[in-house]
Amino acid sequence: MRTALINQPTLRFDAVAGIGPHPREGAVIEAIRAERRKLTIEWDDGIVLETSWRFSGEWHLYRSDVRWQKPMSEARAVIEVDGWVAVCFGPVRIETYRAPDRHRHPQCGGAGPDIRRTDVDIVALVDRMIAYSDSSATVAEVLGDPRVMTGVGNVERSEVLWSVELDPWTEFGELTEDDCETLVDVAQRLATVGPHGLHVYGRVGQRCERCHGTIAMATSGADPRPVYWCPDCQTDPGEGLVLPLNLQRVEPHPVEAMYLNDARAARQRVRIFDDLRELG
Ligand SMILES: [Zn+2]
Repeated sequence: MRTALINQPTLRFDAVAGIGPHPREGAVIEAIRAERRKLTIEWDDGIVLETSWRFSGEWHLYRSDVRWQKPMSEARAVIEVDGWVAVCFGPVRIETYRAPDRHRHPQCGGAGPDIRRTDVDIVALVDRMIAYSDSSATVAEVLGDPRVMTGVGNVERSEVLWSVELDPWTEFGELTEDDCETLVDVAQRLATVGPHGLHVYGRVGQRCERCHGTIAMATSGADPRPVYWCPDCQTDPGEGLVLPLNLQRVEPHPVEAMYLNDARAARQRVRIFDDLRELG
């Protein structure tokens, strides 16, 4: 269902007994979250649709030209995008509402885990980052957002981005899961061990030791904390972020390597399972 609907403009939205605002025509579906007996869909105009059921109730996904498996009269909500129709059947509680300002209030809620703690769950942290609701936020914003993680000070933020040669103003949505893992990994090392000297922080106008470019400084949005970076060697993620040589371990601890691999596989399994379940 995610594959068919996400990033698609809505051609039609109907909800029987749907109380609340509807997404405007053409609004783009941004996120679909499935929990036990509950499915939440979010549009880019801030409308959220929540469907939940107690015993029976389900979402079906059909190609636009295919006959539904249940009569139209039983449909409780219909969302149509180019080529696909998603239909919710069954005794379902349907509610739509306008998320107050979800760019400022990502679904994470509350403060994120402290990355300096040795027992911090890196996998959960990466998940939290991936779930960041505003994919148009910059990586500098996400990295400095205490709702994603705490313990990354402003100094570390600039140094982390320099370490992985990433432009702070890259849209967060351009990062892959692997990129997020690398970011969190580097952030944790710099936050716990501290940076090996300052490469960009506080060095506006000075030369970048990597490429001899000139270090710049800027702030963004409501965040008054300055970001320092080298516009010459910090670019978009391209083929993916690379762990800097000085932070690479000779050999990752086998248990850690196994755990990270397992977590990555589990994430993929969950996603496939979600999709299958949503397909019914
Ligand atoms: Zn540079």
